[in-house]
Amino acid sequence: MQKNRFLCPQCRAELKIKNSLIFVGQNEKKERGIILFSPELGNYQLVHTQDFHITEGEHIAFHCPVCQADLSLKNTPKHLAEVIMVDDMGEEYEIVFSEIAGNRTTIQVKDNKVVDFYGDDDPSEYMNIWGSSPNY
Ligand SMILES: [Zn+2]
Repeated sequence: MQKNRFLCPQCRAELKIKNSLIFVGQNEKKERGIILFSPELGNYQLVHTQDFHITEGEHIAFHCPVCQADLSLKNTPKHLAEVIMVDDMGEEYEIVFSEIAGNRTTIQVKDNKVVDFYGDDDPSEYMNIWGSSPNY
């Protein structure tokens, strides 16, 4: 069981229930549905409601289920969304993930620095979004 807490960056509502992060997703047809993510970084298993359709490669807009904020990063043309993670020491990180269905990219950021990267993609194309290169 993951102890980390996950918060909306806008309203700081808790997004984790039991062992899932809960988002409202909107696909390219502007249909909305509930999406569940694993809180385990680098685990891309995703569950969504049956009447909500996601096509591989499609852009999904992630919204906070509490305040409806769009979670996409505004400072990059890349399709990335972010949440706040608070670990059991109380340290806060930004967890950034791809909004493209099937794209496995997760970036852990602290104080504007990349501290970790998960996924199959080449991380270098994402690194110039933040201040410095990672130390992994
Ligand atoms: Zn919110």
